[in-house]
Amino acid sequence: AKKLVEVRDLKMHFPIRSGLLRRVTGAVKAVDGVSFDIFEGETLGLVGESGCGKSTCGRAVLRLYEPTSGSIKLDGEEIATAPFDKLRRLRPKMQMVFQDPQASLNPRMTVAGIIGEPLMEHTKLSEKERLDRIYQLMDAVGLNRDFANRYPHEFSGGQRQRIGIARALALNPKFIVCDEPIAALDVSIQAQVVNLLEELQDEFGLTYLFISHDLSMVRHIADRVAVMYLGKVVELGARDVLYDAPLHPYTEALLSAVPEPDPVSHDEANRIILQGDVPSPANPPQGCNFCTRCPKVMAICRQIDPEFREVKPGRFVACHLYNETRPETAGNAAQPT
Ligand code: SF4
Ligand code: MG
Repeated sequence: AKKLVEVRDLKMHFPIRSGLLRRVTGAVKAVDGVSFDIFEGETLGLVGESGCGKSTCGRAVLRLYEPTSGSIKLDGEEIATAPFDKLRRLRPKMQMVFQDPQASLNPRMTVAGIIGEPLMEHTKLSEKERLDRIYQLMDAVGLNRDFANRYPHEFSGGQRQRIGIARALALNPKFIVCDEPIAALDVSIQAQVVNLLEELQDEFGLTYLFISHDLSMVRHIADRVAVMYLGKVVELGARDVLYDAPLHPYTEALLSAVPEPDPVSHDEANRIILQGDVPSPANPPQGCNFCTRCPKVMAICRQIDPEFREVKPGRFVACHLYNETRPETAGNAAQPT
């Protein structure tokens, strides 16, 4: 399949200012050198605990933030450094579905106004054509056309998320970043919204970056999965391979905490409890970012930051356990087979 999105060494550092003069005294390294591809028509899941930088990464990829450095290509066109007019031209191709539909929809606009806004901004459709398109979009996301003149507060959370999705679809995007799109919804309607996203993906050939802390949901929806810890992607691979045989010690720990669907095979004793807290992204440890908590930490881990590299076709990991140039680690049980 064709690569639609190519992210290389993306960094998103926020300056820390202090003192009377508000001098820059440091940086929060929210995203610190992230690389991945997303193939056309697939869903890449981006998982990790809250604060790991996954939302910031999603926003930076769409250039809703100005990246500190790195490259982001959409369909071969550079986004990271694109000047305003080029970005404006590319904007319709890449959209976002936000976590909290309540906060992301203008409460003073009607549903038709909200869905029609990107059409006003980026197209020259007549009023009639615009309304037709708004109705089409409402049909596509399962909203009754009679609701077009109502306001967001008149809807349930699930319906509001449908409005947000219709708006994201208005300009026929190729790529959508879904940032925790169901986290704010009742459990009873989460599956409906996920199913809708999957149906729309098939219908319109969409490519998703699906950001979530919910590992079971990501296993359901994603084709491939990237795991983030403290601003870095530590592991990336095909969904089932990654879930069934994680390579990185952090992925192992994260997955060990997910209840198995089959309670008979679920063994609480296999759960890996990590010691200590996640370090601050303003002051990450020297060497591997996970070295302060890793059950398999080695001396080299505290000195050298492991490179994120492809250890098997399609399988990427940043960990010294998988470094071929260090044969002294070859006896480790976690070595790739
Ligand atoms: Fe653990 Fe070392 Fe691998 Fe980091 S590089 S995850 S500290 S074994
Ligand atoms: Mg987040």
